[in-house]
Amino acid sequence: MFLLKSIYIWQNTKMICNLDLSILKHNLKKDWEKYLKQHGVKFPQDGQRLNGILCLYENLGTPLSQDEMIEWFQKRNLPEYDRQIRHIADDGWYIIGGNTRATRYKVSLDLSYAQICLKTIKEPNPLWSAGNLKRKNFLEAGDWEDILEIFKDRGCAVCGLHFNNYDKGHLLNGAFDSYNKNNIVPMCSSCNNWGQMYNLEFKLDKNLRARPIIKKRNV
Ligand SMILES: [Zn+2]
Repeated sequence: MFLLKSIYIWQNTKMICNLDLSILKHNLKKDWEKYLKQHGVKFPQDGQRLNGILCLYENLGTPLSQDEMIEWFQKRNLPEYDRQIRHIADDGWYIIGGNTRATRYKVSLDLSYAQICLKTIKEPNPLWSAGNLKRKNFLEAGDWEDILEIFKDRGCAVCGLHFNNYDKGHLLNGAFDSYNKNNIVPMCSSCNNWGQMYNLEFKLDKNLRARPIIKKRNV
């Protein structure tokens, strides 16, 4: 009876489970090397995580429910699927899902709550990439001292006056830009306050002068 029921479910799903597992793995690795490795996306060791990716990869672009993934594992006599596939987003794999509380991968309202889809193998998870870039460029210990050294002769990047201490001024205000260490320059408190009061953005010239960017007026 149970067997009959299982076959019934399998026949009614769009989930694909045909290719030999070693061929799937070979193809995935080839695609990963071609498109994802250079971005630092991790290729998991054999086990749950890899099996989960192979399942989504065989169904690339098609959303799968957690139950369908369980079936995929069962059909292949693999150890029971642990329902944790969403964590591959943190390794850089570009999945989308229907769970509206997700923060590490993109939410698609076309998908139901329990569905996950490997969107593409040709680019990394954009939310992961943004976070990665942010971490890479975020001011680390010693960076601020390096920046002050660069501006030793210039002083405040905006007015050029010299002080004992400077604020960490931002050239651009965008949520993303402001994390980038190339966006941080020494500003005296009054220039920094002035910039913040008028929400100014600055462009740094080759003489280390931060000049306010004149925004186009709407005509
Ligand atoms: Zn100043």
